[in-house]
Amino acid sequence: MDIKEKDNKINLLEFSAEDLRTVVERLGMKPYRAAQICRWIYSEGVESFFAMTDISKSDREKLSEAAEIRPPELSERLVSDDETEKHLFALQDGEKVESVLIPDEGRLTLCISSQAGCALGCRFCLTGAGGIRRNLLPHEITGQALVAEAGRPASATAGKGCKITNIVLMGMGEPLLNTENVFEALRRLISPKMFNISPRRITLSTAGIVPGIKALGESGLDVNLAVSINAPNDEIRDRIMPVNKKYPLKALVKALKDYPLAPRRRITVEYVMLKGINDKVEHAAELGRLLRGLRCKINLIPFNEHGGSEFKRPEEASVLAFQERLHSMNYTAFIRESRGADILAACGQLRGFSARKTLTEAPPGV
Ligand code: SF4
Repeated sequence: MDIKEKDNKINLLEFSAEDLRTVVERLGMKPYRAAQICRWIYSEGVESFFAMTDISKSDREKLSEAAEIRPPELSERLVSDDETEKHLFALQDGEKVESVLIPDEGRLTLCISSQAGCALGCRFCLTGAGGIRRNLLPHEITGQALVAEAGRPASATAGKGCKITNIVLMGMGEPLLNTENVFEALRRLISPKMFNISPRRITLSTAGIVPGIKALGESGLDVNLAVSINAPNDEIRDRIMPVNKKYPLKALVKALKDYPLAPRRRITVEYVMLKGINDKVEHAAELGRLLRGLRCKINLIPFNEHGGSEFKRPEEASVLAFQERLHSMNYTAFIRESRGADILAACGQLRGFSARKTLTEAPPGV
């Protein structure tokens, strides 16, 4: 374990619950303090060591001299007409990433970023247009959740106070091109000592990185897997997702079929519908044939038009006909409207700088 000191203080968010035991020992405290600190940070959302009332005064003083709790800095918070929130973070080296908080009946879902930028350059995606800048570290990924919870009053969510109930890794970046950091972040999100979110409520979405899918299957993390397919054949997919040249559909579908799915779980197939490109009934039939034998459900996402893209949203009738064709082939297919389009928070619209409608005050950090 590498204890990094920044500005002479150790950021405790950088450590797993296990590594935190070593940190507190090195600071001259008993190792059991680590569990207490984790509870205060991750369950209680406490930002000051002096609020950790079951820790002795002398240990709290030691902690505040040597350590700090420093999540990514929230530089802007935008709110959509549909109550979706976009959070823009400035990382320590100046990189910008975004997360999107989606309140819904009985749940609070956070869509988090795994990289600053993205190397994959999907043609319909604003994030991809800017290229990759760097991978996020585990605490930069989980820190997005800490900040989202801290800024959310308990009364604003149904059921679980201000706790996030669901996590989707569908923000900026391709999580399976940053597996080491993403898998560690997932372990921390799942850990009962830290965020304590059930793996069944966490979904990792990939554009189809075949070795990464295999690694996720072997990791034992047991989170849900979503794959952004977006095309029924290689010809169309090559045009809109350059990653298809490296991992074509045949290899991708094989990796999905080989994925060790728990009983009663299904892979989510995402299909962004682009007018005149992939939205015809013949495409639905071809998609159905492609996915035959795969335990999956299909989410159809009509494209959110934005200034930076040549693509158009399909007609509603085309979307319904597409869905109907899939139903006729015995697939479960939903039409999903992306939320937060007015603040550029919808699928494929995250790019690391702000849109409109800023709240007057950003919520406090942790
Ligand atoms: S859709 Fe996802 S994988 Fe594709 S460029 Fe955008 S962020 Fe990257």
